[in-house]
Parts: sequence; structure tokens; C-alpha cells
Amino acid sequence: MAGKRQKTEYREQRTDFCPFDLGSRRAGSLAQGRLLSSVPSTSLRAGFCLLTSDFCLVIILLAGNLAHFCKANDGVGKWPAHIQTVLDATEELKYDRAGRLPLYLWQAMDPGLLEQETAEELVRKLDKRGIGLITSWDPNNREDSLAASLTVARAQKRLGLPVNINATKCLYWFFNGDERTAHIDDQNQPFWDESFGPPPRLASADAGAGKRRMGCPFALDFRRPYIAKQLEYFVRAFNQAGLDVGFIFADWEIDGPIEFNEAHAASKRCRRCRDNIENIDDFEEFQKVLRKLRCELQREVYAEPIKKNFPKTLVGNYGVYPHGGYRYWYDYYEYYVDGQPALADQKAKYRKWYHEFPETGYTAAMPVIYPWGRIFDWYDYADTDYRWFYNMLLEASNAGQHTPASVPIISFVHWHTIKSDSSAGQVQQFSEEKYQELLWHMLLRGTDTFFLWCRKDEAAKEIQLVHQVYAQAQQYGEFLSKGLPINFSVPKQPTTVISGLRLKDRVLIRRTDFKQSDDPVEIGIVDQRIKIWPAPGRCQIVLLN
Ligand SMILES: [Zn+2]
Repeated sequence: MAGKRQKTEYREQRTDFCPFDLGSRRAGSLAQGRLLSSVPSTSLRAGFCLLTSDFCLVIILLAGNLAHFCKANDGVGKWPAHIQTVLDATEELKYDRAGRLPLYLWQAMDPGLLEQETAEELVRKLDKRGIGLITSWDPNNREDSLAASLTVARAQKRLGLPVNINATKCLYWFFNGDERTAHIDDQNQPFWDESFGPPPRLASADAGAGKRRMGCPFALDFRRPYIAKQLEYFVRAFNQAGLDVGFIFADWEIDGPIEFNEAHAASKRCRRCRDNIENIDDFEEFQKVLRKLRCELQREVYAEPIKKNFPKTLVGNYGVYPHGGYRYWYDYYEYYVDGQPALADQKAKYRKWYHEFPETGYTAAMPVIYPWGRIFDWYDYADTDYRWFYNMLLEASNAGQHTPASVPIISFVHWHTIKSDSSAGQVQQFSEEKYQELLWHMLLRGTDTFFLWCRKDEAAKEIQLVHQVYAQAQQYGEFLSKGLPINFSVPKQPTTVISGLRLKDRVLIRRTDFKQSDDPVEIGIVDQRIKIWPAPGRCQIVLLN
């Protein structure tokens, strides 16, 4: 109870502090609800053992996961084509979102330089659909991107809506190809870790040609002021214009210290790394040192300057969020290296992950819940939908369970299979129906809103699927804003999955059956046993005694 009281007080403090409703309560709620024996389940926190064996994931070279910036003038009508796609694929909300976080869409970004009135019209149109328009700060195109961003920000301020910013390009590149950022071998020769693949399609000119040049984590200090200045330009301009930032995110990934792929081997070869890491042969020690550095970089050049200038802002980065110590997914450029600590689950190896979120200073958690192609081959479920659902709900629950209620969870989502070479052609696409069920379960396990990333050719369908769930969910606004998740467990077999948000004596429940059943399942909530009957495709509200 003490924990609950503490949370309430903290939330009250933050209500004045934050422009957004902070959404569902999470931490501490597991004890209040768990599935009873009629639903086979496993706790995320128990039961696995450490295993390391030969298991190598092929690097998937996906173009465009990084900034997939659309051109502003590729439409023929009033709006650029990517914005028109958003408008066409969505409808105005029937239920008020009442200050809860908007839905974010990769396509609802960068409409180009608009007239002030037109910007207001667009912001208003999107807001009626529950969508927050985002603009990007681009240090490679400073004046133009600033002008376009300021216009939209003024419109958002005028309409009383938060300003949403994509700061991705401001954070690149620490490893810019400069030889001073390379590792140094015993002959004092610089060398690179090239195991992270070629530079992405949108790499800036100074990123270096050929393989990506990941270098020495201890050679980046001279890069900090350079990166910080890229952001400062935009921050200063917003301050001068009297504009605040409500939400700012980055998609900062393959840059800076990362311990995976062949990074450990490279550091062991590097004289400077050996001097800086006491037990360099110990992977966990290596991981700790590198992640601490990685957090420090994000905190110093990004999170802290933003919070100092915009104290109410939600600031975050793709893939950085509180968790239970393991990560259930691999990004497209990552693979498992034998010997690294991981949990085995069928053919999956869930890597041990550093608790980086608190050290970054971020105020928004941004988990990644994607159907990576390799997931399909990890599990043997005959119901192939459950392979996706199981893995993605594991990660969503991981974030939901461990993120404090004061920190909003903005989950990156995606529906189309992100194909990999190892499983091309054999993968069965996640069904629309079960993907939408997953989104519902995420909302009932702590996700506050979604951030859809997708490619342009996938956009219409992707936007429709996530927007339908977001829009429908707003009818349960009080639960979304104030409810406590009752359950974070994920069944090991495709049977019945239950999630819920409890609000005083009522519980908003979603039941999804992967095995046909007309029977109730029993769940435990606050010392009560409640029967949950099937209700395909809809939520139920259950009263507690
Ligand atoms: Zn080094």
C-alpha cells in the first residue's frame, strides 16, 4: 500500500508539471493480479536459466529503419502525399482523448514549410483524429527545417497542443569516420569494428564510405561539443520564439558505444579499451562500462539540455526503456555472439540488458514492439500468429511491468513482417486481427500510446490498423488514464491471454483465445477470483465485489 500511496503523490506532483496525462499506473501492480491455474502462464521474472550456445543471427540489412524522412512536396493536392495518406486512412475520434497522449505516426511528420494558417488547419485536422504532428530538426538543413518546425510549433501552441519534435539527426554522428574515433591496436594502428554493417542509406557524408565505422568508446569526448551544438541551434531558436517542446524523441541507434556484435572482440584488441576496462574479458563488466558511457552521451548532449530548456518535456530515444534485465528482440543490425549472457526460450536467446533508462535522464520510455522476421523461426507454435503475439507481448509486458507510473510508455509498433534473409519466404505474416488484439493487450499492460513506424508503401494499412485500436480505446479513457494493470504474464502455450486495467472496483478486461474455448477462465484480482467469459474482439468491464 505504501508503494501505491507514494505513486499517487508523485503523480499529483507531476500533473502540474507535465502537459500530458501520464497514463496508466504500472509498477507494483503485479502482486494485485495474476492468472490462476486455469490459464497456463509463465512469469517474466522467473524460471529461465542462463544458456549460451552456438546461435547466430544474421544481420538484416534493412534500409530505412532510421530516419525515413518523406519529401514534403511529393503530393499533388493540398497536403504532401504522406500526410494525405494519414488523413485518408483515419477518421475523427468518436471519443475524446481528454489530454491523453496522441497517437504518433512516422507519416504524420514533416509536412514541409506551410503557411501559418495552413499549418493550423493541418494540426487541427490531425488532432481531431488523435494524431500529433511531428516536425524534425535537421542540422544538415538547419534554416529550412527550423522554419518548417517553428511554423508547426506556433500552430500547436496557438491550439493549446504539445509541440512534437524528431531530434534524430541532431544526435549523429559520434563515430563520424574521423580516424581519431577508431580503436588502436598494439602497433598503434587505428582500426574499426565493422560488424555493424554498411552505413544506413541516409548516412551523412562524413559517416565514411564502406562498412560502418564503429570505433573506440573512449575516443568520443571531442565529439560531444559538436553533437551538442547541433541541438543547441534549434533549442535556442525555440527559446527565442517563446515556444515549448512537449515531446521530443530520437532514433539514435548504430552510433556511440554498443557492446554487441563483434564490439567485445574489437575492444579486447584495442590498447585504449584495455587500459580503460579493468576486467575486459568479462562481458558483463564490458557491457556495464559501455552502457554507462552510452547513457552519459545521451544524457549530456541531449536529455539534460532539453530538460533544462523545456522542463516539462517528454524526452526519449528509440529502444530505451525500463525493463526486467533482458531484451526479447534484436534490432535489424544485431546478432547473437556465443558466450554472451542470454536466456534461452525454444530457439530464442534473450540477451541480458543493462538498466540504462535511469542513467539517460529520459522522461519517456520507448520500447520497440515489432514483428522482426527472425522471431518466426524462434518458436514452434503451430498457430503461427502466436509466435508473433507471444514475443511481442513479452516485450510489451517487460516494459509495462518495470516502468514507473510517472514515466509514459510510448511504444514503437509495426505490423508488416520485417523480413530477414534467414527466414525469407517461409514467414507467415501476423494476422491483422491478432495484431490488433496485441495492441489492445499492450494498452492494458501499461503502454500509454503507440508510435507507428512503417515504410511509405505500407503506410495506409499500418495506419488504419493502429488508429482503429487507438480510436476505439479512447472510450475507456478513465481506465487508460488511471487504471492499474492486473497482469503481465504471457502464456507459454497458445491458449487464453488476459490483460486488464483495474480502476477501484471495476476492471477493464481483454480476453484473447488462441485455442477455441467457450469456457470462462478464472483470474485473481485483489484476493478475489473473477470468471472471465469469452468476448471475441471486444473489451469487457467486470465489477469486483
Ligand atoms: Zn578502443
